[in-house]
Amino acid sequence: MKDVIYKTALLNSKPERLEMNVESKVTKDKMEEGDYGYLKGYVYKEFHKIFPDKDFVKYWLEYNKLGNFKISDNVETVGGISEEAHYIMRVITEYHILQAFKAMKVDLSDPNVGGDKGTAYRIAKMYCGDGLEDDSELLSGRWAKRPQMATFPNENRQKHPITKRVDIVSVCSHHLAPFSTLFRDGAYAIVSYVPDYNVLGISKLQRIVDWVSRRGHLQENLTKMIYDEVSAAAKTKSVYVKLVGLVHTCESLRGTQSNQGSFTSEYYAGDFEKYEIRREVNG
Ligand SMILES: [Zn+2]
Repeated sequence: MKDVIYKTALLNSKPERLEMNVESKVTKDKMEEGDYGYLKGYVYKEFHKIFPDKDFVKYWLEYNKLGNFKISDNVETVGGISEEAHYIMRVITEYHILQAFKAMKVDLSDPNVGGDKGTAYRIAKMYCGDGLEDDSELLSGRWAKRPQMATFPNENRQKHPITKRVDIVSVCSHHLAPFSTLFRDGAYAIVSYVPDYNVLGISKLQRIVDWVSRRGHLQENLTKMIYDEVSAAAKTKSVYVKLVGLVHTCESLRGTQSNQGSFTSEYYAGDFEKYEIRREVNG
């Protein structure tokens, strides 16, 4: 039965190839020959290690039909993805990173780089995330499910700003090099809002910020995107976001190698257009 599914998946391959693949001679070495038929066979094998009873063809097609989306967006903008198709994406990414290492003449016999679950595997995980629940990798916010944000009625209709300090971990879309509040004393980020009818469960704010940040961004666009998410969750436009003194490693560790540079950005609307309120939350 499995062979039948397999042959469907490898429809475009030559018959000789099919025989080889069906006999499970698809190895990483063969895969490195750069043949797309081998790649499909390799993905099929890896897929069934994790999802032994799942229909490979269904998820292979799902992956291949998925549209491209911006490096700063989440997959929900193109309709979402299943855990199975995400895994296929991750295996294919690992394959192409391995090809890049070969192009760069990297010695893959080095046990710190090559082998099963070597550096290509680790980079693929770092860029793709470890599934749809993972929010801890550098680009996992492109694939992770949106965190649920609890809201409560603002019973006393209090109109005082609610402010939280958060950490930012992001990567620049130009180099995929990290920028963060964590690299320098005195760097921080503030998210504040004036509640209208709803109050947010504030402990989730960091999760929303992580979900948005862990993608490829320009800092000024990230600032606006955090504003948009908090504004939508709290159902108010009176939101203030300020990212203060973030170090961009593409600048501090390469290129100009300046260790003086840091970047501050802010975005606000509604009640925060009054200077006194901005000064208060910056206090
Ligand atoms: Zn950069």
